[in-house]
Amino acid sequence: MSALIPWRLRAAFYRLAQARRVNGCSRTGMVSFTFDDFPRSALEVGGAILAAKRLRGTYYASAGLAGTAGPMGPLFTMDDLDRADHAGHEIGGHTFSHVGAAGLPKQALLADIGRNQQALGGFVPRNFSYPMGLTDFTVAGLLGRHFDSCRGIAAGLNGEGTDLNLLKAVALYSGHPEQGFFDHIAEARRQGAWLIFYTHDVADSPSRFGCSIDLFERVVAAAHGSGAMVAPIRDCLAALAAPAPLVSEPSPQTA
Ligand SMILES: [Zn+2]
Repeated sequence: MSALIPWRLRAAFYRLAQARRVNGCSRTGMVSFTFDDFPRSALEVGGAILAAKRLRGTYYASAGLAGTAGPMGPLFTMDDLDRADHAGHEIGGHTFSHVGAAGLPKQALLADIGRNQQALGGFVPRNFSYPMGLTDFTVAGLLGRHFDSCRGIAAGLNGEGTDLNLLKAVALYSGHPEQGFFDHIAEARRQGAWLIFYTHDVADSPSRFGCSIDLFERVVAAAHGSGAMVAPIRDCLAALAAPAPLVSEPSPQTA
């Protein structure tokens, strides 16, 4: 039992002093499409599907992966950042080396994030996603001082009492039951809540962390047709009039 006390104290401190609560509800509900790492197909294919409906997404870039290839296909190149930006998409932050944020010494984590932001050139991400969803109260409290929002992979809608340091999200993976995606959109619309989808590659034969082209088209069409606001994270935060982070330490760029 005593072993639980430090964690409970940490959790209590986080909730009292560091969580950044906002009412994530809006009149119409909101849907964001986000991509982690990110594979080139997320922009070339996924971005084109969004753009065809005049929609935009958020791309959380891990610069250490740029120009490499893996099970999700080729990852973005630095030119892709410009393409994404010109198309109106948002560039978000991830760690440089795609290391998980939980359990890292504070300085090592901030240094890795700072390295990512330097490598992204002129792009200064205001929103972050935790690689592999790995986070804890210490990390959430730390990064919540540097970013407008941090997104995890805990499933659910963001509604009343949403914590900007621990935004919930729903995996848009082809291996998951399809109906759930459409149910989430309908529920976000009904509750006026904020639904954030995340995926990686968008391809005919996606990786198990990706989404097929056909499914992505149908889910985007459903979100678009639902009457919900469909927009990148930055635009949804603006619509919610979310508070800016209280930067009490040097930004990650200088860490
Ligand atoms: Zn990732």
